Amino acid sequence: MKTSIEKVLGREVLDSRGNPTLEVELTLSDGAFGRAIVPSGASTGEHEALELRDGDKSRYLGKGVQTAVTRVSEAYEAALKGKSFASLRDVDEALLATDGTQQKSKLGGNTILGISMAYAHAISDSRKSPLYRVLNEMMGLSESDLRMPVPLMNILNGGMHANNGLEIQEFMVVPHGFENFRESLRAGVEIFHQLKKNLNSKKFSTAVGDEGGFAPDLGTNEEALTLICESVEAAGYQLNQQVSLALDVAASSFFDKASGNYDINLEGRKHATAAQMMDYYQSLIEKFPIVSIEDGLDENDWAGWKGMNERFGKRVQLVGDDIFVTQPSFVKRGIDEKAANAVLIKVNQVGTLTETFETLKLCRDHKYEAVVSHRSGESEDVTISHLAVASGCGQIKTGSASRGERTAKYNELFRIADRQEAEGKPLPLAKPF
Ligand code: PGA
Ligand code: ZN
Repeated sequence: MKTSIEKVLGREVLDSRGNPTLEVELTLSDGAFGRAIVPSGASTGEHEALELRDGDKSRYLGKGVQTAVTRVSEAYEAALKGKSFASLRDVDEALLATDGTQQKSKLGGNTILGISMAYAHAISDSRKSPLYRVLNEMMGLSESDLRMPVPLMNILNGGMHANNGLEIQEFMVVPHGFENFRESLRAGVEIFHQLKKNLNSKKFSTAVGDEGGFAPDLGTNEEALTLICESVEAAGYQLNQQVSLALDVAASSFFDKASGNYDINLEGRKHATAAQMMDYYQSLIEKFPIVSIEDGLDENDWAGWKGMNERFGKRVQLVGDDIFVTQPSFVKRGIDEKAANAVLIKVNQVGTLTETFETLKLCRDHKYEAVVSHRSGESEDVTISHLAVASGCGQIKTGSASRGERTAKYNELFRIADRQEAEGKPLPLAKPF
């Protein structure tokens, strides 16, 4: 059945860091309505779709998105108005053709993604079917592919998401050894509370960073990992069997292009080579129950990634975020060059849902793990909860157990789980580890 789009409206709203971001509202000719808010990153990959910002320093420190709001109307006039569409792919392709640039710089990645997501929500409304089922169908998958994702909960923040001295950006707990999503998330939340107690008793700050994890001024990354392990056990959970750890190093954010070294404090040295970084990971993997390392090396060091995958790929999930930027062509290269074994999926890195589906399909076809992810700048939008379930990818990264924009995603996952149970079709918790 073909649909036509009656109206599209852009709006400047706020994200969780207090920066402007784009909201899009879309109405179909049958009256169905969809709304979506575009997220925004801080440790962004070089090759991400362009995030259009006004740059006018007299408003919001240059971060306004009024231009993107205007582009939404222009995109509607040029690509969508008066046409009918058989699928989301058709809508996205019309937008991409109108944009015509590699990095979506004409219309803006935020403009295109906002329309793409709002359209998917409108189709869900039109069909009176929940978004995860609609996305599942749009991806050419079936109901049997639906899975509840294991949360990779970022309970301790460093890097560009905090102002402490830790170089590693995210220290995550992975509650994988549980019967269902509800129990898995509960474990993560209880560990979060236990960690707060432990930090308090050691007189560390329990203020939270951008993704809702604590951001204490710890001396070393090992100290952070030790504290988390102690908290897992004190909360009554078993390390390895029930709960493991994951890191997002976000190494591009402290890679110094001029010297080719990483600005990290290791054993009294201020810099590390790629080889020294890998030796460091080796020591961490041996000491702590780490099952996943994201962005362990710089986004342009493909040879380094290949070496890292040869060395650790059998033991640990190696997730490419900045190196792949969710783009099918980059992920293809990664698969060909055996550069990693998993991909982080961020819808605004690539800029349309259709291309996100392509990347997810590449992962499925080549036995790469996929982790659907939020950005550090988020909102109440819960599209990614639906995407994680719909794709059955098995893992979601959507922050800690605090800050409403993070818990919004978890709460939507509870609703999805309940809905399936009420229909007598409870969804299994994925088993990626
Ligand atoms: P970002 O961080 O949203 O600031 O890019 C998230 C991540 O690196 O995974
Ligand atoms: Zn990352």
